[in-house]
Amino acid sequence: MSNTNKRIFLSPPFVGAAERAAAKRAFDSGYVAPCGPQVDEFERRLAKLAGRKYAVAVSSGTAAIDLLMAELGVDETWTVIAPTLTFIATVGPAFHRGAKLVFVDSDATGNIDVSLLEEVLKSLRVNHKILVIGVDLYGNCCDYGAIAKLCRKFGAVFVTDAAEAVGAKRDGRPAGSAGLAGVYSFNGNKIITTSGGGAIVTDDRGLAERARKRAQQSREKCVWYEHREVGYNYRLSNILAAIGLSQLDRLPAILKKRKSNYDWYARNFKGDLLSPTPGANHWLTVAVLSSCRERDKLLRRFKAANIEARPVWKPLHLQPVFAKCRVFGGEVAEALFERGVCLPSGTGLKSGDFARIAACIS
Ligand SMILES: *Cc1c(COP(=O)(O)O)cnc(C)c1O
Repeated sequence: MSNTNKRIFLSPPFVGAAERAAAKRAFDSGYVAPCGPQVDEFERRLAKLAGRKYAVAVSSGTAAIDLLMAELGVDETWTVIAPTLTFIATVGPAFHRGAKLVFVDSDATGNIDVSLLEEVLKSLRVNHKILVIGVDLYGNCCDYGAIAKLCRKFGAVFVTDAAEAVGAKRDGRPAGSAGLAGVYSFNGNKIITTSGGGAIVTDDRGLAERARKRAQQSREKCVWYEHREVGYNYRLSNILAAIGLSQLDRLPAILKKRKSNYDWYARNFKGDLLSPTPGANHWLTVAVLSSCRERDKLLRRFKAANIEARPVWKPLHLQPVFAKCRVFGGEVAEALFERGVCLPSGTGLKSGDFARIAACIS
């Protein structure tokens, strides 16, 4: 295949010599395990990035969310509220624990509609165990201040799924800094990657210590294997943490490039873009077409040019597996699903790539 037709991916990992060297150094140091100096250093730097006291590095964003569910004791007596426009991993761990899921529509930014969230909270019985999972869609932080205020008023726990928002801010506060804890993902397609990985960030020392212990099979400090509870095997490998450290070094440059990708689309795409919230990390730029037909036309053009582009998340209330769950509103998220396209947004996009993309969007 000629180089001009090389596939352009949506958001491929942006890694190179620095990551390879860091992984090799970790390997050669002998810490080829899910513990070691790189994991400790990665946690220190993640906590700093999040404006939090503690970070717990784990094997995926989903594992981080699962550990938070374990910490809260989420079970069938809990109601878990989440935006409908998100990836299934936001609510997967709560679903597996039998919680009642309630989905909430988006506002114009795609994030959870805060006034609808208030309606949901008003409609729930008091004294009920309620968890609100805020999601920072495509790197746009949800309204941390307003959601935190509502959760305090109604006695709900608030955590943030900032899997897509590493490096973003909202009103001067870093992604993942709101509520009891935040979650990051370092999956291959996310803004920085450890190939696979995730983290909890929090100011709650007890939570961080318990999560770290649960991530290591809840082993007690004892020479033999002693267990007072059953844990999980969720710790991040030291080799992968080394890759994460190199990625953190690159983060300022990555954020700059993602912003310039967005700016290019703003100049060159004639239709609407999902407008980023101030401080967004521009993980993915999203086009909003005039109709479902126009969306399909654009997807077909990208496909023919060997360029990866995708519809936005299919709302969770439309997923067959959640057919019985309650949803408040839903029309805004449905419209975004029918008309939205996630555009190629990788850190490695070059001018030749943009020329091919331009030919598809003109
Ligand atoms: C990627 C993602 C996750 C899951 O992270 P993994 O590291 O892939 O397990 C959770 N929530 C959202 C919103 C995501 O985009």
